[in-house]
Amino acid sequence: MDKICKSIVFGGLAEVTAFDTTELVQKARELHKTSPVATVALGKVLSIGAYMSSTLKNDGDRFSISITCDGPIQNLVVAGNSKLQVRGYLENPDFQLEKLGSGKENLREAFGSGTINVIKDLGLKECYTGKSEVVNGNVDEDFAWYFTKSEGVPTALAMAVNLDENGDCTSAGGIIIQPLPGCPEEVLVILEDISMNFGIMDKLVAARDPHKLIDDYFGHFEIKYFDPVTPVYQCICSPLYMEGVVRAIGRGECVNILMERGSIEIKCHFCGKVYNFSKEEVVDIWQRYDKLNKK
Ligand SMILES: [Zn+2]
Repeated sequence: MDKICKSIVFGGLAEVTAFDTTELVQKARELHKTSPVATVALGKVLSIGAYMSSTLKNDGDRFSISITCDGPIQNLVVAGNSKLQVRGYLENPDFQLEKLGSGKENLREAFGSGTINVIKDLGLKECYTGKSEVVNGNVDEDFAWYFTKSEGVPTALAMAVNLDENGDCTSAGGIIIQPLPGCPEEVLVILEDISMNFGIMDKLVAARDPHKLIDDYFGHFEIKYFDPVTPVYQCICSPLYMEGVVRAIGRGECVNILMERGSIEIKCHFCGKVYNFSKEEVVDIWQRYDKLNKK
């Protein structure tokens, strides 16, 4: 079972989180039939998404990450909520790069340059929005930079997605280290030192034991563990949710599609489920919309 293990070290001066996201990544691989490099790219961002969902405190809190880039990945989206339900997709799931091998080495080429955008809906008046550039293309450094620059938290991050010869995910996960408020400079130096000395992440992640991963590196630094939690790949689409998508198409375009095809078909990017709206249903959606907006 996938797991996110959180701990605080140095008596509460820093937080260390390690995660095993193997099942999450394999589920995405099966749903989207991703090529090896696409599995690694999406798998790493899904793992960040699992971590991000574990930081949401209130029911209803949710986030979305989108990466727009000029490499063959083009567009990658991951979203999740405080229930640890995470989902994601790539615009271009089955692209291949010639010299890809296992898919790990050429992530940089797959992303090219681009931008990371994060929106967090924390139930406040306005959503939090964060933004940073893709600085390396290996995802780890890009999100370490995102958290440091955009959220103002210096972050060390290392992840791996391991695949078998068929391109299926055999293990995925990683570790993320962030100082807590009041963390002094000398502790930051120690944290940085430890993070520079992680072994080969592929091997550490292959053990599928995030608790041990933390313990091996931080076990002797006044550590306190929290109960692990389990992230899952789960889409939240529903007919009601898709009605919003129908409205987003716009009334004029709805009419055009109905004249051409007789109904409107919408496929959920995240899970592939197809929703079909008949002419009567589309008319009803717009009538209810008008009624609501008259009040
Ligand atoms: Zn869906």
